[in-house]
Amino acid sequence: MASGAPVELLLHFAENRARSRIHIARGALSRLGAFARETTGARRVLLVTDARVGALHAASARRSLERAGVQVEPVLVPRGERAKRVGVLARLWDVLAANGIGRDGAVVAVGGGVVSDLAGFAAATWARGVPWVAVPTTVLAQVDASVGGKTAIDLAAGKNLVGAFHQPAGVLVDPDTLATLPPRERRNGLAEVVKTGFAVDRSLWSWLESNLDSLAEGRPAALAEAVERSIRAKARVVQRDEREQPLPGPGHRNGHAGTRRAGAGRAALNFGHTLGHAIEACLGYRRLLHGEAVAIGMRAAAWLSVRVVGLAPESHVRLEAALDHLGLPVRVPGLSVPRLLAAMQLDKKRAQGEVRWVLTPRIGDASVPRAVESRLVRAALAHSGARPARG
Ligand code: NAD
Repeated sequence: MASGAPVELLLHFAENRARSRIHIARGALSRLGAFARETTGARRVLLVTDARVGALHAASARRSLERAGVQVEPVLVPRGERAKRVGVLARLWDVLAANGIGRDGAVVAVGGGVVSDLAGFAAATWARGVPWVAVPTTVLAQVDASVGGKTAIDLAAGKNLVGAFHQPAGVLVDPDTLATLPPRERRNGLAEVVKTGFAVDRSLWSWLESNLDSLAEGRPAALAEAVERSIRAKARVVQRDEREQPLPGPGHRNGHAGTRRAGAGRAALNFGHTLGHAIEACLGYRRLLHGEAVAIGMRAAAWLSVRVVGLAPESHVRLEAALDHLGLPVRVPGLSVPRLLAAMQLDKKRAQGEVRWVLTPRIGDASVPRAVESRLVRAALAHSGARPARG
């Protein structure tokens, strides 16, 4: 689509013989009906969206489905993270049941990562799994949440605690839907593009560095290309490692070349997430958006990468400059080192009882997560603006 032509990717997941067809094209939303029929075969679908996206884009999605002869049962869910709750999920199951949608039906999610995580999980659990189509409408959902098949809801005890891997049969990506996205949400998603480039795709990174102005301004052609390049990069990674393989043992902690061959895989995409998740948890998932917290986390992970795996200081500076250019936050907002350390301990991604960091010795070459000496972690947190004392 760098040339403006539609892009079609077919992902194969050997482990469970799943296939996922990704179609990326400006204006593609008007072809959703045919796409959903081709990828799921369903003639009846549950169409899940939230109130804002519903007002902006759902009518067009619905028209397209109905034109293709698909009967639509629409459901509006609350906006934001509070939609990823068991009560909202149960409402989706009730609507599926009340309308007799069975295994020959499907779920279509039109919205951001919240809608795709929730609707995807409804599809994973309904009738022991029905097909679903993701129509992501935020940058974050287009480049990250809709590719790879992770679906989940939250519990009071934490985010994404109940979930399943359930590959969407189809992902229809229309970058033109991003035109209505508030700038802050756009920047939030671009943080994940920065992450993908810096952690796993050097050529995406080079392209990004040359297009920071256009991306910061939200120019549609630049956004469309960023989306396409990021999806290609994530698709490569998740096809190799669908379920985020268990981490190698402590013997693999050092020597990044070796650990990379042992399978950096999907975990490499968690670059910036160790601190990012801790910040989000400490703030109660308010104040900062996910990509904003990850941006601060990436700055800390790059700082550590310089000291632990020999990342060139100049590469760290380039990462900081890109994040600054995109207007992403710089410092941990008013949290202390001990609080952040405690939140990291609680993160569900902890492995073998120790907090691990994804580090990278070079741009685009992140390794499997590793334990890092606590003295250095504390220094990285202080460098990121965390206060030394508890509070
Ligand atoms: P979101 O879904 O809450 O969307 C953000 C806001 O933008 C919402 O208010 C929504 O109504 C609005 N919006 C969406 N599309 C719009 C458009 N085109 N125009 C105007 N407004 C629009 O948030 P998000 O950042 O897209 O996703 C965050 C969620 O994604 C989190 O729950 C996170 O856990 C999840 N996530 C999942 C994965 C995965 O692999 N499954 C990866 C990353 C994040």
